[in-house]
Amino acid sequence: MKIICIGRNYVAHARELDNEVPDEPVFFMKPDSALLRNNDPFFIPDWTKEVHHEIELVLRVCRLGKNIGKQFAYRYYDEIGLGIDFTARDVQNELKAKGLPWEKAKAFDRAAVLGNTFFPKEIFPDPEAISFRLDINGKTVQSGNSNLMIFDFDEIIAHVSKYVTLKIGDLIYTGTPAGVGPVKIGDHLEGYLEDKKLLDFMIK
Ligand code: ZN
Repeated sequence: MKIICIGRNYVAHARELDNEVPDEPVFFMKPDSALLRNNDPFFIPDWTKEVHHEIELVLRVCRLGKNIGKQFAYRYYDEIGLGIDFTARDVQNELKAKGLPWEKAKAFDRAAVLGNTFFPKEIFPDPEAISFRLDINGKTVQSGNSNLMIFDFDEIIAHVSKYVTLKIGDLIYTGTPAGVGPVKIGDHLEGYLEDKKLLDFMIK
């Protein structure tokens, strides 16, 4: 399986990092070795001084597909979960300045946190309006809603599948809302999808 991540999919987040608002989805990938599950702790690697949290809705792909039309895209994911796209922002900024790929900053071990529970998409009355948030030490630091995404789930699937075949079990992290910031040792992170707590782990 592979992990596909969408960048700059919320206007307020693109602006907070001084990025342009894209005219097509920006995507990058993480390897399966980046997964961090079971609410295991996240250890800040020693080669970065600035790991940022990015809370994101995650889609699970349920069908093999290539060149998927937007009108059929809804058939290709059946479950929605919650994750964090950890980003070594200092390293990413260096790479961006040099025009280099982002992998060192995004694809490192444990950089893709994933909640253990996924929900069938049918339980959400409106997939265009799913709320989620991240609390750190009891305080909400990011709160998002899928109605604020620049590119919705179907547009993401149509675009990515032009270039990359989607396979059953692939995960798509759909971008983060505004409010990203650094985590530090001892922080307690809790992630909520609607009112359900799916992430609850420590930074070490
Ligand atoms: Zn992200």
